[in-house]
Amino acid sequence: MKQKIQEKFKSLFGEEGVLYASAGRINLIGEHTDYNGGYVFPGAIDCGIMAAIKVNGTPKVKVFSLDYNELCEFGLEEKDAPEKAWARYIFGVCRETIKRGGKVEGFNAVFAGDVPLGAGLSSSAALESCFAFALNDIFKNNIDKFELAKIGQSTEHNYCGVKCGIMDQFASVFGKEGALIRLNCKTLEYKYFPFHPKGYKLVLIDSCVKHELASSAYNKRRASCENAAAAIRKKHPEVEFLSDAKRLWLDEVREEIPQEDFLRAEYVIGEVQRVLDVCDALERDDYETVGEMMYQTHFGLSRLYEVSCEELDFLNKLARKMDVTGSRVMGGGFGGCTINLVKEELYDGFIAAAKEQFQAKFGHAPKIYDVVISDGARKL
Ligand code: ADP
Ligand code: MG
Repeated sequence: MKQKIQEKFKSLFGEEGVLYASAGRINLIGEHTDYNGGYVFPGAIDCGIMAAIKVNGTPKVKVFSLDYNELCEFGLEEKDAPEKAWARYIFGVCRETIKRGGKVEGFNAVFAGDVPLGAGLSSSAALESCFAFALNDIFKNNIDKFELAKIGQSTEHNYCGVKCGIMDQFASVFGKEGALIRLNCKTLEYKYFPFHPKGYKLVLIDSCVKHELASSAYNKRRASCENAAAAIRKKHPEVEFLSDAKRLWLDEVREEIPQEDFLRAEYVIGEVQRVLDVCDALERDDYETVGEMMYQTHFGLSRLYEVSCEELDFLNKLARKMDVTGSRVMGGGFGGCTINLVKEELYDGFIAAAKEQFQAKFGHAPKIYDVVISDGARKL
């Protein structure tokens, strides 16, 4: 990829650019915890975005996307926003950097990526953090890493119409090879934990379905969580978010809230604890416990939080049947991927069975993505 990018850069701009890269991400455990003030546990992966960049001494940005085979040119004022969707991510990063007092002048860039688009691996965050990191380095802005993640998040909010949380950009900026990062979504404190699953592979199986109810269901889940938290707060005023509540406290309000809200809250409180348990297990290199927690999360998402679907439950059940160490739906639910921790010797059989049986039942093949936990945004 490096060579292709530099060759294109040379042919367009007559010299070579400086290379930067960033990554997509997975979340091992900690789902639907972010808006409840709980933990998420993401890591950067070995696919991402790579860009060659060089200041061009003009007020214009000229960017070429190798994957779309398109050149886009834009100025740096608010009125210069480009039409092309992919270019808006880069324009947004420029604007958000400038809004934070950073310097950005015209530059040339060529970039390409290998994160599958829209598969739940956050190709958009990879794109944002690559350019946020690069511009910060090139123009010596000294913006701290957390703010670089926020530049990506604000780009999604203000230029791409996606009201996302901070996890994707955080993971893409802070990711490190062989480490997952536990982020406290309430305090934004974070801590690295070792992730060296020797003898195991991490593989995503993309169901390639997206069921429609996702956004209305999401709002309903949030409301249930807020309702449960409010009931608990009356007895325990220290509960700001649902994740602050102890399981026992939820039992105390069982009769006061709808059964549905109780089940949603039961999942969330359990999930916050599972993230902590997984972190403890990783410090002992205990991947069997990690896997068991992933299955428990899947059960919770499917039966208590009710955001799974037939395709994902099918893949999860098959994983269990084939002795896969851990498996769960990753992301918001109602489609997308399962994330699986598989012993190397079981990998080939599991993937072959998943492809064949999924195709037979649902009439289309799932997609398979192997991932390794790797570095986030960096200069090459
Ligand atoms: P994801 O879940 O992968 O983040 P999004 O819809 O949020 O999906 O972001 C995908 C968009 O990001 C693409 O439509 C494109 O505009 C941009 N993008 C991601 N990767 C690339 C790439 N390699 N080249 C150009 N644009 C990209
Ligand atoms: Mg995205």
